[in-house]
Amino acid sequence: MDTLPAAREIPFFNYRKAFLDDEEAYAAIFRDVLRRGAFIDQRDLQEFEQRVAEYVGVKGAIGVGSGTDGLVMSWRTVALKAGDEVIFPSHTLVASPASVYFAGGVPVPVDIGDDGLLDPDAVEEAMTPRTVGIMPVHLNGRTCDMGRIMEIAERRGLVVIEDAAQALGSKYKGRAAGTFGRAGAFSFYPAKILGCMGDGGMVVTDDDATAAQIRLLRDHGRGDDGEVHCWGLNSRLDNMQAAFLNHQFKNYARIVSRRREIAASYHRLLGDVEQLTLPAAPDSDPDRFDVFQNFELLAERRDDLRAHLQKHGVGTLVQWGGKAVHQWPELGIDLHLPNTEKFFERCVMFPMNTTLDDGDVEYVSELVRGFYGR
Ligand SMILES: *Cc1c(COP(=O)(O)O)cnc(C)c1O
Repeated sequence: MDTLPAAREIPFFNYRKAFLDDEEAYAAIFRDVLRRGAFIDQRDLQEFEQRVAEYVGVKGAIGVGSGTDGLVMSWRTVALKAGDEVIFPSHTLVASPASVYFAGGVPVPVDIGDDGLLDPDAVEEAMTPRTVGIMPVHLNGRTCDMGRIMEIAERRGLVVIEDAAQALGSKYKGRAAGTFGRAGAFSFYPAKILGCMGDGGMVVTDDDATAAQIRLLRDHGRGDDGEVHCWGLNSRLDNMQAAFLNHQFKNYARIVSRRREIAASYHRLLGDVEQLTLPAAPDSDPDRFDVFQNFELLAERRDDLRAHLQKHGVGTLVQWGGKAVHQWPELGIDLHLPNTEKFFERCVMFPMNTTLDDGDVEYVSELVRGFYGR
């Protein structure tokens, strides 16, 4: 008979614990910001923008209301014309293509490769005379094959805007996700690696004109001179959120290394289970530095495994409600993307965040091994 480890409760993401683990610091920041009456575009935001710009190695970082808004405004700077097509991987949050849609273009989903990321061959195949851009999505904290993607974009004269919502600090050949194309957007949604207490995002770019345009777009089109220069939105990163993020960002290197440690533990404890296909282990690819926003794997009998884990207190998640973008009929995309569809029959994410201790990772792994009779 199986000897199961003592029961634990491990939600997929523990929003409450993320706060409680550092409650005093957050309460002090809250009081400090409120006492200063520093709500919109104050020094906390400016400091945070500067820190992120330095960290990823770009000139411009602009705090915005959400990662989605960051993508929408980035595509707005491209001045898409009706019918202009932008290629993106179907394995992503519907926010990625929605950003192209709301900027006036046509989002064109393509297949993913074995690593779950945009497949450069699929990009080449989907190219038409109307293609104007590519939106790589650096999913799960892993940067896409930006060597090939930038080569295609340059050869064809295409704009690249990167959805780096899940990939702050992830690198390809030493260069940070979000800094290859014209602009990249990060998200600070609470469950993201750097997560605030609500919605938040940031656009990064080395292009001064793009940075200036995003600054206008996020503030009603108003410039520092107080004049209105274009139609704009209201999408600024709240100063309070920036203050929380500044605090967390001091520990960012440690947060990332803890996530990489957890990924390495899953590999050590589950690497021999042949019913699973794990994501690349940390340091298994000399070209990549992965930050493990998620630990997404493929599992045989996925739904039964999830039920088994749930029964023993462990939460798991299938991204995007279990469907790739092209699989939502209401969006009117009539396509068959075989790799992506196969991927979505077996993909699942195990808990991956800094509220987990080593015992939690062992508990999850033992349950998984037990399920497969290992
Ligand atoms: C979280 C996420 C977004 C959107 O970010 P928000 O800040 O929630 O708007 C976009 N793309 C991907 C891949 C994401 O994971």
